[in-house]
Amino acid sequence: MTGGPFVLSDELRQATNRLRDAGIEGSATDARLLIAAAAGLSREDMLYDPDLKLSPDQKTRAETMIHRRADREPVSRILGRREFYGLSFEVTPVTLDPRPDSEVIVEAAIDYALCMGGKPTVLDIGTGTGCLLLSTLEALPEAIGTGTDIDPEAVAAACRNAHSLGCASRVKFQTSDWLSGVQGRFDIVLSNPPYIPSGDIANLAPEVSQYDPWSALDGGSDGLDAYRVLADRIPETLAPSGIALMEIGAGQADDVTGLFSAAGWHILENRADLAGHDRCLVFARKTAPHWLTHPPPKKGVGNRMNPD
Ligand code: GLN
Repeated sequence: MTGGPFVLSDELRQATNRLRDAGIEGSATDARLLIAAAAGLSREDMLYDPDLKLSPDQKTRAETMIHRRADREPVSRILGRREFYGLSFEVTPVTLDPRPDSEVIVEAAIDYALCMGGKPTVLDIGTGTGCLLLSTLEALPEAIGTGTDIDPEAVAAACRNAHSLGCASRVKFQTSDWLSGVQGRFDIVLSNPPYIPSGDIANLAPEVSQYDPWSALDGGSDGLDAYRVLADRIPETLAPSGIALMEIGAGQADDVTGLFSAAGWHILENRADLAGHDRCLVFARKTAPHWLTHPPPKKGVGNRMNPD
């Protein structure tokens, strides 16, 4: 590369314009994150040293990343990491990119776990990065867990995340089709299964339709295939007074509740995400003990934001 010097503030402005022209919302934020990562600069460098000069190598790396983002690749996939529930997760091409909406599953799991005495065994079906299970375990130091995924590369990524978060001694990941080969009975079974109707996937934002693994999105013709399997099979691995927490997509609460009810489950709670959408359904067996017929107080969000 010739020319220069490459001044940070100029590079930021050009990158922001390029992303804005490509139709990227939040173009300034994305430009800042990507240039910082490409150039190895801190947030402070970016904010307080706009005259800083980038080397030709730094500029080339930044341009490559900005180009990828302009092609609608999400920042998390370009950087290979995503923050979820305040923790950092490695994201790979075979794992779903963790979504803030899914944090409500973790919060609910923690609330119910505390009601159970804080030491539950937890099974996460279709674990991807492991974000749901590992965030839950991280908040419950005496809990232990198992995560399954049909893709061995996702299992490997989840294992790496467990190691980097310091949870590896309390968690086991296994390659499994839903819950085949899973041993034992769990107090809490959770899942964020694929739930997008097949015909709707192509209409999602390119960040999703082109970069999330199809198998992590595709819920069959009506989006409910996974719930049919899970409603029938989770009892094989659930403790008698255990609970199942299911993430659901827009408008699926009634259908999924109906499927679970027909399979012998009782709905305990329907929790909304921070945007107010039904997101997390909590089920117990119809024969579960009485205490389980009332949801516990919601503490997950409060615990995380305000420790008291
Ligand atoms: N459990 C993972 C997540 O919520 C993966 C879910 C999936 O692949 N559908 O991110």
